[in-house]
Amino acid sequence: MTPRRKPFGAALADFLAARLAHVQNGAEISALVSEVRARAVEHAGELRPSLDEPPMACAAGCDHCCHLRVDTSPLEVMALAWWLDQFLDASEKTRLRDRVELTLSESRGLSEEKFAAAHIACPLLANGRCTAYEVRPFDCQGYMSADARVCEQARSNYDIQAIPINGRRYKAFVEARRALNRVSIREGRDAAVLELISALHIVLAGDDVVARWLAGEPVFAGAAIDAPHSARRNPRT
Ligand code: SF4
Repeated sequence: MTPRRKPFGAALADFLAARLAHVQNGAEISALVSEVRARAVEHAGELRPSLDEPPMACAAGCDHCCHLRVDTSPLEVMALAWWLDQFLDASEKTRLRDRVELTLSESRGLSEEKFAAAHIACPLLANGRCTAYEVRPFDCQGYMSADARVCEQARSNYDIQAIPINGRRYKAFVEARRALNRVSIREGRDAAVLELISALHIVLAGDDVVARWLAGEPVFAGAAIDAPHSARRNPRT
């Protein structure tokens, strides 16, 4: 008899537990998160699609969902910051810091619904494209819609339940983020679901954020959100 495979989230947690204890810097965090991302993509592809699953409408230049609040986690945002530090030049970094400051002042404390109603563009959005597309948060990577018109309408009439996102992919990335946070806490690091702009503001503010987080300091506490939207979304596909 073939032994049953562990559920995706449990297998990912085992993998993370073995690796996270040895991580020492931003480059290693980036490599770890990349591996988790690859496993989430693979898992989403392995899950059986429903017969009536529509094709996805997401394409370069379509940025409706980049005006919604993004949920993330400490490991994802530190991996993202490492990538930005490696691949942006000095003037791009300055522009990004300015955009983070501005969007934080516009969005601080807004609920998910009020955030969407305020039409605040993600600070990583530039000329309709994500500055860090390859390493964007799992919330963004998992969020693929079958109907761009519904996404556009949701910008002025916010109803996340109406957006026909690919539920298999979305759930794979939600599970991956949960595993990142669960194992972080188990390994003595502070973790919670974070709001992206606030978390970026924290991680871009100082060189020692990664070291402090690895030492167990709750450096991202100010970016934690009480009501992650993943708990309320109800993907239809
Ligand atoms: S991180 Fe990138 S994909 Fe996600 S909301 Fe921001 S610009 Fe869009």
